[in-house]
Amino acid sequence: MNLSVLHTFRPAIAPAAVLLLTALALVAGPALPPSLSGLKTLGPYVVLLLGTVMGWWFNRGRTFIALASLLAAFAGHDLALDIGATSFAAHAVFTAAAILVPLNFLLALVFPERGVSHHFNYRWLMLAVVEIVFVAWVASAGRSDLSGMVWQDLLTNWLFRSPPTPPLGRLLFTAAFVAAVVRTWPKDAAAETRPLDIGLAGALAAFFIACEWVNTPGAFEAFMMASGVILLVSLLQESHRLAFRDELTGLPSRRALEERLHGLGPTHAIAMLDVDHFKNFNDTHGHDIGDQVLRLVAARLAQAQGGGTAYRYGGEEFCILFPELGLAEALPHVEKIRAGIAAYKMAVRRSDRPTDPEAGTRLRQLRSPEKTLSVTVSIGIAEPDDQRATPAEVLVAADRALYRAKQAGRNRVSS
Ligand code: GH3
Ligand code: MG
Ligand code: MG
Repeated sequence: MNLSVLHTFRPAIAPAAVLLLTALALVAGPALPPSLSGLKTLGPYVVLLLGTVMGWWFNRGRTFIALASLLAAFAGHDLALDIGATSFAAHAVFTAAAILVPLNFLLALVFPERGVSHHFNYRWLMLAVVEIVFVAWVASAGRSDLSGMVWQDLLTNWLFRSPPTPPLGRLLFTAAFVAAVVRTWPKDAAAETRPLDIGLAGALAAFFIACEWVNTPGAFEAFMMASGVILLVSLLQESHRLAFRDELTGLPSRRALEERLHGLGPTHAIAMLDVDHFKNFNDTHGHDIGDQVLRLVAARLAQAQGGGTAYRYGGEEFCILFPELGLAEALPHVEKIRAGIAAYKMAVRRSDRPTDPEAGTRLRQLRSPEKTLSVTVSIGIAEPDDQRATPAEVLVAADRALYRAKQAGRNRVSS
């Protein structure tokens, strides 16, 4: 396993840790004294409710639907237990939850993300009402004239037999989990996994364990709480990512650089990098191709050696920070990056690809489906000295050096 694999799966660490800690607390943790046993159900209620409200507030449709389903499942199970742990109602609600929660996850994953408040289409609200009314109706089977014994018979069918998780539930779990993992899987090596997608897979796993261990005292509550914690953590990670990552290139943003500058020691070097004649490039090839090229340039910068971290400073300007190296040591790394970009033939997708498939086939026979383009970059680099002691001053000096590189004819490094 190499480092980039570790980097890709870093977001999975939080859900895995929550699951592990929950299991450890259950197996080795002290039992709650009877006076505190109310906490066992209060915990999941608080976490799931908080998560649902935050999912709404952050306008994350999938996460909201996941949390609302988990909250409804937990509340339904809790209410049914009041009727009696061995009652038909408790059995029916558990079976329904173990089927409907993964079904909702699956639907949320399959349909496009539309946010909550902006486009909260009433289909979801309708579905929620239909599910709740349906489960209440099934759970009251035998108590009213409306429902006979048909549900009791149905729940003995092998597809619905529980506990633990009924086979139909397991099937839906598998489908939803696969859908979550497919969404999570990074498209290419440079892409980062989205915390929200990993959170959905983790919450699903937690709910599955909760269902499988429903007969172990405390396990259902503990893992329901774990599923809520996993989704809450993923919401927080996502908002952190939005604040500190640049969406187009996946590099850390200027804001992340500014935070990083505060913690720098006396030895460091800062390189400012600007794509040459990029306005012309956009005018010639179009803004979409321009965006693709920025991504490819960023992917190369992300591979900077010598402990350098690349940031997107803004527009077609980037910054590489070498926190351990002086100017003389960083210079060869920067020169290597400049030469690498100048020699790099970037294969970009055509933006004028026809949408009509037949025309596309004809065109492909006439010319290659991709074109290769190249760009050059100018770089200015600086380190602290007597006149500029702070990283902010070094950054300004690097920017001046960049200007000199442009003046001297571009595609070069100045210091
Ligand atoms: P120079 O060699 O002097 O840097 O020339 P330049 O054209 O690169 O410089 P200038 O600063 O005048 O233009 C920068 C251009 O970069 C303007 C804009 O068209 C383009 N640009 C900035 N941000 C983006 C972006 O996110 N995507 C794309 N496609 N183009 C961008
Ligand atoms: Mg510029
Ligand atoms: Mg430029």
